Amino acid sequence: MIRVFQVKCAYENEVEAQLIKKLHIKKEDLLGYTIHRRSVDARHQKVLFSYVIDCSLKNEKKVLKHKDVQPCPDETYHFVSSGTRIMNTRPVVVGFGPAGMFASLILAEAGYQPIVVERGSMVSLRKEKVDTFWQTGKLDPECNVQFGEGGAGAFSDGKLTTRSKDSRARKVLEELVDFGAKEDILIDAHPHIGTDAFLKIIENCRKKIIDLGGTFYFDTCLKDIKTKQNKLAEIKINDTWIPCENMILTIGHSATDTIRMLHQNGVMMENKPYAIGVRIEHKQEYINRAMLKDYATDPRLIPARYQLTHTASNNKGVYTFCMCPGGYVIPSSSSKEKLVVNGMSYASRSGENANSALLVQVNEEDYGNELFAGLQYQEDLEIKAYHMAGDYKVCLQLAKDYLENKVSVRLDDVKPTYALGYQFVDLNELFDPAINQALHEALIVFEKRVPGFVSEGALLSAVESRSSSSVRIIRDHDLQSNIQGIYPGGEGAGYAGGIMTSAIDGIKCAESIICRYQKHDTMK
Ligand code: FAD
Repeated sequence: MIRVFQVKCAYENEVEAQLIKKLHIKKEDLLGYTIHRRSVDARHQKVLFSYVIDCSLKNEKKVLKHKDVQPCPDETYHFVSSGTRIMNTRPVVVGFGPAGMFASLILAEAGYQPIVVERGSMVSLRKEKVDTFWQTGKLDPECNVQFGEGGAGAFSDGKLTTRSKDSRARKVLEELVDFGAKEDILIDAHPHIGTDAFLKIIENCRKKIIDLGGTFYFDTCLKDIKTKQNKLAEIKINDTWIPCENMILTIGHSATDTIRMLHQNGVMMENKPYAIGVRIEHKQEYINRAMLKDYATDPRLIPARYQLTHTASNNKGVYTFCMCPGGYVIPSSSSKEKLVVNGMSYASRSGENANSALLVQVNEEDYGNELFAGLQYQEDLEIKAYHMAGDYKVCLQLAKDYLENKVSVRLDDVKPTYALGYQFVDLNELFDPAINQALHEALIVFEKRVPGFVSEGALLSAVESRSSSSVRIIRDHDLQSNIQGIYPGGEGAGYAGGIMTSAIDGIKCAESIICRYQKHDTMK
Protein backbone atom coordinates (compact mmCIF):
# COMPACT_ATOMS: atom_id res chain seq x y z
CA MET A 1 0.00 0.00 0.00
CA ILE A 2 1.34 3.46 -0.89
CA ARG A 3 0.24 7.02 -0.07
CA VAL A 4 0.07 9.53 -2.93
CA PHE A 5 -0.04 13.27 -2.16
CA GLN A 6 -1.30 16.18 -4.28
CA VAL A 7 -3.73 14.40 -6.56
CA LYS A 8 -5.61 17.43 -7.86
CA CYS A 9 -8.97 17.56 -9.58
CA ALA A 10 -12.14 19.63 -9.60
CA TYR A 11 -14.62 16.82 -8.81
CA GLU A 12 -14.35 13.61 -6.80
CA ASN A 13 -15.28 11.37 -9.75
CA GLU A 14 -12.06 12.47 -11.47
CA VAL A 15 -9.79 11.14 -8.70
CA GLU A 16 -9.10 7.73 -10.24
CA ALA A 17 -8.18 9.15 -13.65
CA GLN A 18 -5.93 11.79 -12.07
CA LEU A 19 -4.20 9.20 -9.89
CA ILE A 20 -3.46 6.99 -12.89
CA LYS A 21 -2.17 9.98 -14.82
CA LYS A 22 0.01 11.21 -11.98
CA LEU A 23 1.63 7.81 -11.38
CA HIS A 24 1.98 7.05 -15.12
CA ILE A 25 0.40 3.64 -14.65
CA LYS A 26 -2.19 1.63 -16.57
CA LYS A 27 -5.74 1.40 -15.27
CA GLU A 28 -5.35 -2.37 -14.68
CA ASP A 29 -2.28 -1.74 -12.46
CA LEU A 30 -4.41 0.11 -9.92
CA LEU A 31 -5.77 -2.60 -7.60
CA GLY A 32 -7.76 -0.30 -5.30
CA TYR A 33 -7.69 3.07 -3.56
CA THR A 34 -9.24 5.08 -0.73
CA ILE A 35 -9.24 8.83 -0.08
CA HIS A 36 -7.14 9.61 2.99
CA ARG A 37 -7.45 13.42 3.04
CA ARG A 38 -9.28 16.09 1.02
CA SER A 39 -8.57 19.82 1.02
CA VAL A 40 -9.54 22.75 -1.16
CA ASP A 41 -7.00 24.58 -3.26
CA ALA A 42 -8.63 27.78 -4.59
CA ARG A 43 -5.42 29.79 -5.00
CA HIS A 44 -5.26 29.45 -8.76
CA GLN A 45 -7.57 30.38 -11.58
CA LYS A 46 -9.91 27.50 -10.91
CA VAL A 47 -11.00 25.62 -7.80
CA LEU A 48 -9.28 22.32 -7.29
CA PHE A 49 -9.47 19.74 -4.57
CA SER A 50 -6.17 18.31 -3.44
CA TYR A 51 -6.40 14.67 -2.39
CA VAL A 52 -4.11 12.34 -0.48
CA ILE A 53 -4.83 8.83 -1.76
CA ASP A 54 -3.92 5.46 -0.25
CA CYS A 55 -3.73 2.84 -2.98
CA SER A 56 -2.43 -0.60 -3.90
CA LEU A 57 -0.72 -1.16 -7.22
CA LYS A 58 0.56 -4.21 -9.04
CA ASN A 59 4.08 -2.87 -8.82
CA GLU A 60 4.42 -0.33 -6.03
CA LYS A 61 8.22 -0.26 -5.97
CA LYS A 62 8.22 1.35 -9.40
CA VAL A 63 6.48 4.54 -8.21
CA LEU A 64 8.12 4.92 -4.79
CA LYS A 65 10.73 7.27 -6.22
CA HIS A 66 8.03 9.81 -7.16
CA LYS A 67 8.33 12.89 -4.93
CA ASP A 68 4.65 12.71 -3.94
CA VAL A 69 4.64 9.00 -3.04
CA GLN A 70 5.57 7.23 0.19
CA PRO A 71 4.81 3.85 1.78
CA CYS A 72 1.50 4.00 3.60
CA PRO A 73 2.10 4.47 7.35
CA ASP A 74 0.27 2.23 9.86
CA GLU A 75 -2.17 4.57 11.59
CA THR A 76 -4.13 1.89 13.42
CA TYR A 77 -4.58 2.57 17.10
CA HIS A 78 -3.01 -0.16 19.25
CA PHE A 79 -4.09 -0.57 22.86
CA VAL A 80 -1.29 -0.49 25.43
CA SER A 81 -0.73 -3.75 27.33
CA SER A 82 -2.05 -4.10 30.86
CA GLY A 83 0.33 -3.58 33.76
CA THR A 84 0.89 -5.81 36.76
CA ARG A 85 -0.11 -3.72 39.79
CA ILE A 86 -3.22 -4.79 41.65
CA MET A 87 -6.17 -2.42 41.27
CA ASN A 88 -8.32 -2.29 44.39
CA THR A 89 -11.05 0.03 43.10
CA ARG A 90 -12.56 0.68 39.68
CA PRO A 91 -11.05 3.75 37.93
CA VAL A 92 -13.14 6.91 38.14
CA VAL A 93 -13.38 9.49 35.36
CA VAL A 94 -14.57 12.91 36.53
CA GLY A 95 -16.17 14.97 33.75
CA PHE A 96 -17.65 13.66 30.50
CA GLY A 97 -16.42 16.24 27.98
CA PRO A 98 -14.28 15.10 25.01
CA ALA A 99 -11.33 14.21 27.29
CA GLY A 100 -13.51 12.26 29.74
CA MET A 101 -15.48 10.59 26.94
CA PHE A 102 -12.38 9.18 25.30
CA ALA A 103 -10.63 8.33 28.57
CA SER A 104 -13.73 6.35 29.63
CA LEU A 105 -14.14 4.75 26.23
CA ILE A 106 -10.55 3.47 26.13
CA LEU A 107 -10.77 2.19 29.71
CA ALA A 108 -14.06 0.46 28.86
CA GLU A 109 -12.73 -1.03 25.61
CA ALA A 110 -9.70 -2.36 27.47
CA GLY A 111 -12.04 -3.98 30.03
CA TYR A 112 -11.46 -1.56 32.94
CA GLN A 113 -15.15 -0.66 33.51
CA PRO A 114 -14.83 3.00 34.49
CA ILE A 115 -17.14 4.87 36.84
CA VAL A 116 -18.03 8.20 35.21
CA VAL A 117 -18.99 11.14 37.43
CA GLU A 118 -20.50 14.19 35.68
CA ARG A 119 -21.80 17.25 37.56
CA GLY A 120 -24.25 18.20 34.79
CA SER A 121 -27.20 16.25 33.44
CA MET A 122 -27.52 13.62 30.75
CA VAL A 123 -27.39 15.26 27.31
CA SER A 124 -31.17 15.19 26.55
CA LEU A 125 -32.06 16.90 29.86
CA ARG A 126 -29.04 19.19 29.49
CA LYS A 127 -30.34 20.41 26.14
CA GLU A 128 -33.68 21.31 27.78
CA LYS A 129 -31.84 23.25 30.51
CA VAL A 130 -29.66 25.10 27.99
CA ASP A 131 -32.74 25.93 25.87
CA THR A 132 -34.47 27.29 28.99
CA PHE A 133 -31.47 29.54 29.69
CA TRP A 134 -31.36 30.77 26.10
CA GLN A 135 -35.10 31.50 26.12
CA THR A 136 -35.60 32.92 29.62
CA GLY A 137 -32.19 33.83 31.06
CA LYS A 138 -32.74 31.29 33.88
CA LEU A 139 -29.30 29.72 34.35
CA ASP A 140 -28.63 26.37 36.02
CA PRO A 141 -25.06 26.74 37.40
CA GLU A 142 -24.61 22.95 37.44
CA CYS A 143 -25.87 22.27 33.93
CA ASN A 144 -25.29 24.67 31.06
CA VAL A 145 -23.10 25.24 27.96
CA GLN A 146 -19.94 24.42 29.95
CA PHE A 147 -21.24 21.65 32.27
CA GLY A 148 -23.13 18.47 31.50
CA GLU A 149 -22.80 15.31 29.43
CA GLY A 150 -20.58 16.03 26.41
CA GLY A 151 -18.75 18.89 28.13
CA ALA A 152 -18.03 22.28 26.60
CA GLY A 153 -17.84 20.81 23.10
CA ALA A 154 -21.48 19.75 23.02
CA PHE A 155 -22.90 23.12 21.96
CA SER A 156 -20.23 24.02 19.44
CA ASP A 157 -19.36 24.15 15.79
CA GLY A 158 -17.69 20.80 16.40
CA LYS A 159 -14.53 21.63 14.49
CA LEU A 160 -12.26 18.61 14.65
CA THR A 161 -9.17 20.10 13.09
CA THR A 162 -5.90 18.69 14.32
CA ARG A 163 -2.41 18.60 12.92
CA SER A 164 -1.61 15.57 15.06
CA LYS A 165 -0.34 12.51 13.18
CA ASP A 166 -0.86 10.49 16.38
CA SER A 167 -2.82 7.28 15.77
CA ARG A 168 -5.02 8.36 18.67
CA ALA A 169 -6.41 11.17 16.45
CA ARG A 170 -7.53 8.58 13.88
CA LYS A 171 -9.03 6.49 16.68
CA VAL A 172 -11.07 9.50 17.87
CA LEU A 173 -12.39 10.26 14.38
CA GLU A 174 -13.24 6.61 13.68
CA GLU A 175 -15.12 6.28 16.99
CA LEU A 176 -17.05 9.50 16.23
CA VAL A 177 -18.09 8.01 12.88
CA ASP A 178 -19.11 4.83 14.68
CA PHE A 179 -21.28 6.95 16.98
CA GLY A 180 -23.00 8.67 14.04
CA ALA A 181 -20.73 11.40 12.60
CA LYS A 182 -20.52 11.62 8.80
CA GLU A 183 -17.64 9.67 7.25
CA ASP A 184 -16.45 12.94 5.68
CA ILE A 185 -14.74 13.83 8.97
CA LEU A 186 -12.21 11.06 8.26
CA ILE A 187 -10.95 12.78 5.12
CA ASP A 188 -11.77 16.49 5.28
CA ALA A 189 -8.85 18.80 6.13
CA HIS A 190 -11.28 20.94 8.15
CA PRO A 191 -13.83 18.48 9.51
CA HIS A 192 -16.76 19.64 11.63
CA ILE A 193 -19.76 17.99 13.25
CA GLY A 194 -22.27 20.66 14.37
CA THR A 195 -24.24 20.84 17.61
CA ASP A 196 -27.31 18.93 16.39
CA ALA A 197 -25.23 15.94 15.23
CA PHE A 198 -22.89 16.02 18.24
CA LEU A 199 -25.65 15.52 20.82
CA LYS A 200 -26.61 12.12 19.36
CA ILE A 201 -22.94 11.10 19.15
CA ILE A 202 -22.44 11.80 22.87
CA GLU A 203 -25.42 9.62 23.74
CA ASN A 204 -24.12 6.75 21.59
CA CYS A 205 -20.68 7.00 23.19
CA ARG A 206 -22.24 6.71 26.65
CA LYS A 207 -24.31 3.67 25.55
CA LYS A 208 -21.19 1.87 24.31
CA ILE A 209 -19.34 2.50 27.57
CA ILE A 210 -22.32 1.15 29.55
CA ASP A 211 -22.47 -1.95 27.28
CA LEU A 212 -18.81 -2.54 28.13
CA GLY A 213 -19.49 -2.41 31.88
CA GLY A 214 -19.06 1.31 32.65
CA THR A 215 -21.30 3.08 35.18
CA PHE A 216 -22.54 6.69 34.97
CA TYR A 217 -23.52 9.13 37.69
CA PHE A 218 -25.02 12.34 36.30
CA ASP A 219 -25.89 15.44 38.33
CA THR A 220 -23.05 14.24 40.56
CA CYS A 221 -20.18 16.50 41.46
CA LEU A 222 -16.70 15.69 42.74
CA LYS A 223 -16.68 17.75 45.94
CA ASP A 224 -13.64 16.63 47.92
CA ILE A 225 -10.77 14.14 48.07
CA LYS A 226 -8.86 12.29 50.83
CA THR A 227 -5.29 11.15 50.45
CA LYS A 228 -3.08 8.69 52.38
CA GLN A 229 0.70 8.96 52.16
CA ASN A 230 0.43 11.23 49.16
CA LYS A 231 -1.85 8.78 47.33
CA LEU A 232 -5.50 9.24 46.43
CA ALA A 233 -7.66 7.17 48.82
CA GLU A 234 -11.26 8.43 48.72
CA ILE A 235 -13.39 10.90 46.79
CA LYS A 236 -16.58 12.66 47.83
CA ILE A 237 -19.22 12.72 45.11
CA ASN A 238 -22.19 14.86 46.10
CA ASP A 239 -22.52 13.84 49.79
CA THR A 240 -21.04 10.35 49.57
CA TRP A 241 -17.44 9.25 50.16
CA ILE A 242 -16.27 6.32 48.01
CA PRO A 243 -12.87 4.59 47.95
CA CYS A 244 -10.89 5.55 44.82
CA GLU A 245 -7.27 4.84 43.91
CA ASN A 246 -7.22 6.11 40.32
CA MET A 247 -9.11 9.15 39.12
CA ILE A 248 -8.86 10.77 35.69
CA LEU A 249 -9.68 14.41 36.23
CA THR A 250 -11.12 15.88 33.04
CA ILE A 251 -13.15 18.75 34.46
CA GLY A 252 -12.70 21.42 31.76
CA HIS A 253 -11.70 25.03 32.37
CA SER A 254 -14.85 26.33 34.02
CA ALA A 255 -14.95 24.21 37.20
CA THR A 256 -13.16 26.84 39.29
CA ASP A 257 -14.73 25.48 42.53
CA THR A 258 -13.20 22.05 41.86
CA ILE A 259 -9.84 23.57 40.93
CA ARG A 260 -9.74 25.53 44.21
CA MET A 261 -10.79 22.43 46.21
CA LEU A 262 -7.97 20.41 44.63
CA HIS A 263 -5.48 23.15 45.42
CA GLN A 264 -6.62 23.20 49.08
CA ASN A 265 -5.96 19.46 49.16
CA GLY A 266 -2.38 19.91 48.01
CA VAL A 267 -2.68 19.29 44.25
CA MET A 268 0.06 21.40 42.64
CA MET A 269 -0.82 23.85 39.88
CA GLU A 270 0.49 27.00 38.22
CA ASN A 271 -0.82 30.00 36.29
CA LYS A 272 -0.91 29.63 32.53
CA PRO A 273 -1.23 32.33 29.83
CA TYR A 274 -4.62 32.32 28.11
CA ALA A 275 -6.67 34.71 25.97
CA ILE A 276 -9.66 37.02 26.28
CA GLY A 277 -11.60 39.17 23.85
CA VAL A 278 -14.82 39.34 21.88
CA ARG A 279 -16.86 37.44 19.27
CA ILE A 280 -16.89 39.21 15.95
CA GLU A 281 -19.95 38.69 13.78
CA HIS A 282 -20.40 39.31 10.04
CA LYS A 283 -22.87 38.34 7.39
CA GLN A 284 -21.75 34.95 6.04
CA GLU A 285 -22.46 36.22 2.54
CA TYR A 286 -19.87 38.99 3.08
CA ILE A 287 -17.28 36.46 4.39
CA ASN A 288 -17.94 34.32 1.30
CA ARG A 289 -17.30 37.34 -0.97
CA ALA A 290 -14.25 38.52 0.97
CA MET A 291 -12.59 35.10 1.15
CA LEU A 292 -13.65 33.39 -2.07
CA LYS A 293 -13.97 36.36 -4.43
CA ASP A 294 -15.08 34.93 -7.83
CA TYR A 295 -16.13 31.67 -6.15
CA ALA A 296 -18.34 33.31 -3.51
CA THR A 297 -21.37 31.28 -4.58
CA ASP A 298 -19.60 28.00 -5.40
CA PRO A 299 -21.54 25.32 -3.45
CA ARG A 300 -18.36 23.25 -3.11
CA LEU A 301 -16.72 26.01 -1.08
CA ILE A 302 -19.35 27.90 0.90
CA PRO A 303 -19.76 28.79 3.70
CA ALA A 304 -16.24 30.25 3.73
CA ARG A 305 -13.92 30.30 6.76
CA TYR A 306 -11.14 32.68 7.73
CA GLN A 307 -8.25 32.88 10.17
CA LEU A 308 -6.35 36.09 10.94
CA THR A 309 -3.45 36.92 13.25
CA HIS A 310 -1.53 40.04 14.19
CA THR A 311 1.13 40.99 16.72
CA ALA A 312 0.36 44.42 18.15
CA SER A 313 3.02 47.05 18.89
CA ASN A 314 2.70 46.26 22.64
CA ASN A 315 3.74 42.67 21.73
CA LYS A 316 0.33 41.20 22.36
CA GLY A 317 -0.71 38.43 20.01
CA VAL A 318 -4.20 38.90 18.55
CA TYR A 319 -5.91 36.13 16.61
CA THR A 320 -9.25 34.90 15.38
CA PHE A 321 -10.19 31.53 16.81
CA CYS A 322 -12.94 28.94 16.67
CA MET A 323 -14.63 30.49 13.64
CA CYS A 324 -18.21 29.28 13.15
CA PRO A 325 -19.41 29.67 9.53
CA GLY A 326 -23.20 30.04 9.34
CA GLY A 327 -23.28 30.02 13.13
CA TYR A 328 -24.64 31.72 16.23
CA VAL A 329 -23.15 33.68 19.11
CA ILE A 330 -24.39 31.89 22.22
CA PRO A 331 -24.87 32.73 25.90
CA SER A 332 -22.25 30.48 27.54
CA SER A 333 -22.20 31.44 31.23
CA SER A 334 -21.81 28.76 33.88
CA SER A 335 -22.07 30.99 36.96
CA LYS A 336 -24.75 33.43 37.97
CA GLU A 337 -24.16 37.09 37.15
CA LYS A 338 -21.13 36.41 34.97
CA LEU A 339 -21.40 37.05 31.23
CA VAL A 340 -19.65 34.71 28.79
CA VAL A 341 -20.13 34.33 25.02
CA ASN A 342 -18.95 31.69 22.59
CA GLY A 343 -19.99 30.42 19.15
CA MET A 344 -21.71 27.37 17.70
CA SER A 345 -23.26 26.16 14.48
CA TYR A 346 -25.45 23.33 13.29
CA ALA A 347 -24.26 20.59 10.94
CA SER A 348 -25.68 22.48 7.91
CA ARG A 349 -23.82 25.71 8.83
CA SER A 350 -26.68 27.52 7.13
CA GLY A 351 -27.17 30.47 9.52
CA GLU A 352 -27.11 34.01 8.11
CA ASN A 353 -24.05 35.12 10.08
CA ALA A 354 -20.46 34.00 10.53
CA ASN A 355 -18.81 34.50 13.91
CA SER A 356 -15.37 34.04 15.36
CA ALA A 357 -13.58 34.70 18.60
CA LEU A 358 -11.18 37.65 18.35
CA LEU A 359 -8.72 37.12 21.16
CA VAL A 360 -5.76 38.80 22.83
CA GLN A 361 -3.20 36.80 24.79
CA VAL A 362 -2.96 37.64 28.48
CA ASN A 363 -0.35 36.55 30.99
CA GLU A 364 1.11 37.39 34.42
CA GLU A 365 2.13 40.84 33.15
CA ASP A 366 -1.59 41.62 32.93
CA TYR A 367 -2.76 40.10 36.23
CA GLY A 368 0.21 39.43 38.51
CA ASN A 369 1.90 36.20 39.48
CA GLU A 370 -0.11 34.94 42.44
CA LEU A 371 -1.73 31.57 41.81
CA PHE A 372 -5.29 32.08 40.49
CA ALA A 373 -4.60 35.73 39.61
CA GLY A 374 -5.42 34.89 35.97
CA LEU A 375 -8.59 33.11 37.01
CA GLN A 376 -9.61 36.11 39.12
CA TYR A 377 -8.90 38.46 36.19
CA GLN A 378 -11.17 36.34 33.99
CA GLU A 379 -13.97 36.25 36.58
CA ASP A 380 -13.75 40.01 37.25
CA LEU A 381 -14.12 40.68 33.53
CA GLU A 382 -17.18 38.41 33.29
CA ILE A 383 -18.81 40.13 36.31
CA LYS A 384 -18.08 43.58 34.87
CA ALA A 385 -19.52 42.58 31.48
CA TYR A 386 -22.64 41.15 33.16
CA HIS A 387 -23.28 44.42 35.00
CA MET A 388 -22.61 46.56 31.91
CA ALA A 389 -25.41 44.81 29.98
CA GLY A 390 -27.60 43.19 32.70
CA ASP A 391 -29.71 40.00 32.74
CA TYR A 392 -27.34 38.03 30.49
CA LYS A 393 -27.87 40.46 27.61
CA VAL A 394 -24.70 40.66 25.55
CA CYS A 395 -22.39 43.71 25.57
CA LEU A 396 -22.57 44.82 21.94
CA GLN A 397 -20.78 47.42 19.80
CA LEU A 398 -20.20 47.89 16.09
CA ALA A 399 -16.51 47.28 15.38
CA LYS A 400 -16.18 50.69 13.67
CA ASP A 401 -17.67 52.43 16.76
CA TYR A 402 -15.28 50.50 19.02
CA LEU A 403 -12.40 51.99 17.02
CA GLU A 404 -13.89 55.46 17.57
CA ASN A 405 -14.60 54.91 21.29
CA LYS A 406 -18.31 55.58 20.93
CA VAL A 407 -21.39 53.63 21.97
CA SER A 408 -23.28 52.40 18.90
CA VAL A 409 -26.77 53.78 18.43
CA ARG A 410 -28.11 51.44 15.74
CA LEU A 411 -27.26 48.21 13.97
CA ASP A 412 -25.90 48.20 10.46
CA ASP A 413 -26.44 45.26 8.07
CA VAL A 414 -25.47 42.55 10.55
CA LYS A 415 -28.16 41.48 13.05
CA PRO A 416 -26.88 39.87 16.26
CA THR A 417 -27.69 36.17 16.70
CA TYR A 418 -27.24 36.13 20.50
CA ALA A 419 -30.54 34.83 21.91
CA LEU A 420 -30.90 36.87 25.12
CA GLY A 421 -30.86 40.39 23.65
CA TYR A 422 -28.18 43.05 23.66
CA GLN A 423 -27.12 46.29 25.26
CA PHE A 424 -24.97 48.78 23.34
CA VAL A 425 -21.89 49.61 25.43
CA ASP A 426 -18.42 51.01 24.83
CA LEU A 427 -16.18 47.95 25.05
CA ASN A 428 -13.21 50.27 25.56
CA GLU A 429 -14.57 50.61 29.10
CA LEU A 430 -14.69 46.85 29.64
CA PHE A 431 -11.12 45.96 28.76
CA ASP A 432 -7.77 47.18 30.08
CA PRO A 433 -5.90 49.69 27.88
CA ALA A 434 -3.34 47.10 26.69
CA ILE A 435 -6.13 44.80 25.46
CA ASN A 436 -7.94 47.69 23.74
CA GLN A 437 -4.72 48.82 22.08
CA ALA A 438 -4.05 45.34 20.72
CA LEU A 439 -7.64 44.86 19.51
CA HIS A 440 -7.75 48.31 17.87
CA GLU A 441 -4.48 47.75 16.00
CA ALA A 442 -5.52 44.28 14.88
CA LEU A 443 -8.93 45.44 13.60
CA ILE A 444 -7.27 48.21 11.56
CA VAL A 445 -4.80 45.72 10.06
CA PHE A 446 -7.56 43.14 9.36
CA GLU A 447 -9.66 45.81 7.58
CA LYS A 448 -6.70 46.50 5.29
CA ARG A 449 -6.09 42.81 4.68
CA VAL A 450 -9.76 41.91 4.22
CA PRO A 451 -11.63 45.06 3.11
CA GLY A 452 -14.98 45.28 4.90
CA PHE A 453 -13.86 43.24 7.93
CA VAL A 454 -14.70 46.24 10.14
CA SER A 455 -16.67 48.49 7.83
CA GLU A 456 -19.35 46.05 6.62
CA GLY A 457 -21.30 46.35 9.87
CA ALA A 458 -19.23 43.89 11.92
CA LEU A 459 -20.49 43.44 15.48
CA LEU A 460 -18.41 42.78 18.58
CA SER A 461 -20.04 40.78 21.42
CA ALA A 462 -18.38 40.44 24.81
CA VAL A 463 -16.98 38.85 26.69
CA GLU A 464 -15.20 35.85 25.16
CA SER A 465 -13.27 34.71 28.20
CA ARG A 466 -13.30 30.90 28.20
CA SER A 467 -11.19 29.91 25.25
CA SER A 468 -8.66 28.07 27.40
CA SER A 469 -7.67 27.38 30.99
CA SER A 470 -5.95 30.00 33.15
CA VAL A 471 -4.21 27.34 35.27
CA ARG A 472 -2.28 24.17 34.61
CA ILE A 473 -2.33 21.21 37.00
CA ILE A 474 1.22 19.93 37.17
CA ARG A 475 1.66 16.28 36.16
CA ASP A 476 4.64 13.95 35.79
CA HIS A 477 5.70 11.67 32.93
CA ASP A 478 3.06 9.11 34.06
CA LEU A 479 0.50 11.93 33.70
CA GLN A 480 -0.11 11.85 37.47
CA SER A 481 -0.31 14.93 39.65
CA ASN A 482 1.94 15.27 42.70
CA ILE A 483 -0.80 13.26 44.45
CA GLN A 484 -0.45 9.76 43.02
CA GLY A 485 -3.59 8.32 41.48
CA ILE A 486 -4.88 11.66 40.15
CA TYR A 487 -4.47 11.98 36.36
CA PRO A 488 -5.32 15.57 35.32
CA GLY A 489 -6.18 15.73 31.61
CA GLY A 490 -7.83 17.69 28.84
CA GLU A 491 -8.36 21.41 28.54
CA GLY A 492 -9.06 22.22 32.19
CA ALA A 493 -5.81 20.70 33.36
CA GLY A 494 -4.02 22.84 30.78
CA TYR A 495 -2.88 20.08 28.40
CA ALA A 496 -5.24 20.59 25.48
CA GLY A 497 -7.25 23.20 23.62
CA GLY A 498 -10.18 21.99 21.56
CA ILE A 499 -12.19 18.84 21.07
CA MET A 500 -9.54 16.74 19.31
CA THR A 501 -6.57 17.53 21.54
CA SER A 502 -8.71 17.06 24.65
CA ALA A 503 -9.96 13.69 23.41
CA ILE A 504 -6.39 12.60 22.60
CA ASP A 505 -5.17 13.70 26.03
CA GLY A 506 -8.02 11.76 27.66
CA ILE A 507 -6.84 8.63 25.82
CA LYS A 508 -3.29 9.19 27.11
CA CYS A 509 -4.58 9.37 30.71
CA ALA A 510 -6.49 6.09 30.25
CA GLU A 511 -3.38 4.44 28.77
CA SER A 512 -1.35 5.53 31.77
CA ILE A 513 -3.69 3.63 34.09
CA ILE A 514 -3.97 0.58 31.82
CA CYS A 515 -0.22 0.13 31.39
CA ARG A 516 0.39 0.24 35.14
CA TYR A 517 -2.52 -1.80 36.52
CA GLN A 518 -4.22 -5.14 36.04
CA LYS A 519 -7.99 -5.04 35.81
CA HIS A 520 -9.85 -4.91 39.11
CA ASP A 521 -10.91 -8.37 40.39
CA THR A 522 -14.60 -7.78 39.68
CA MET A 523 -13.82 -7.04 36.02
CA LYS A 524 -12.12 -10.33 35.20
P1 FAD B 1 -14.93 19.96 28.97
O1 FAD B 1 -15.51 19.71 27.63
O2 FAD B 1 -15.06 21.31 29.52
O3 FAD B 1 -15.63 18.91 29.96
C1 FAD B 1 -15.47 18.95 31.33
C2 FAD B 1 -16.65 18.26 32.01
O4 FAD B 1 -16.35 18.09 33.38
C3 FAD B 1 -17.93 19.06 31.94
O5 FAD B 1 -18.94 18.28 31.36
C4 FAD B 1 -18.24 19.40 33.39
O6 FAD B 1 -19.61 19.39 33.68
C5 FAD B 1 -17.51 18.29 34.14
N1 FAD B 1 -17.10 18.66 35.51
C6 FAD B 1 -16.45 19.78 35.90
N2 FAD B 1 -16.22 19.76 37.22
C7 FAD B 1 -16.75 18.61 37.68
C8 FAD B 1 -16.85 18.03 38.98
N3 FAD B 1 -16.33 18.63 40.05
N4 FAD B 1 -17.49 16.85 39.11
C9 FAD B 1 -18.02 16.24 38.03
N5 FAD B 1 -17.97 16.73 36.78
C10 FAD B 1 -17.32 17.91 36.60
N6 FAD B 1 -13.34 23.12 20.35
C11 FAD B 1 -13.10 22.64 19.11
O7 FAD B 1 -12.12 21.92 18.92
N7 FAD B 1 -13.94 22.94 18.07
C12 FAD B 1 -15.03 23.73 18.22
O8 FAD B 1 -15.76 23.97 17.25
C13 FAD B 1 -15.31 24.25 19.51
N8 FAD B 1 -16.38 25.03 19.74
C14 FAD B 1 -16.70 25.40 21.02
C15 FAD B 1 -17.90 26.07 21.26
C16 FAD B 1 -18.29 26.36 22.56
C17 FAD B 1 -19.60 27.06 22.80
C18 FAD B 1 -17.44 26.03 23.65
C19 FAD B 1 -17.83 26.38 25.06
C20 FAD B 1 -16.25 25.38 23.41
C21 FAD B 1 -15.88 25.04 22.10
N9 FAD B 1 -14.69 24.36 21.84
C22 FAD B 1 -14.43 23.90 20.58
C23 FAD B 1 -13.74 24.00 22.91
C24 FAD B 1 -13.97 22.56 23.33
O9 FAD B 1 -15.32 22.37 23.58
C25 FAD B 1 -13.14 22.23 24.56
O10 FAD B 1 -11.79 22.41 24.21
C26 FAD B 1 -13.35 20.80 25.01
O11 FAD B 1 -14.70 20.56 25.28
C27 FAD B 1 -12.51 20.51 26.26
O12 FAD B 1 -12.73 19.19 26.60
P2 FAD B 1 -12.53 18.64 28.09
O13 FAD B 1 -13.08 17.27 28.09
O14 FAD B 1 -11.13 18.84 28.49
O15 FAD B 1 -13.41 19.59 29.03
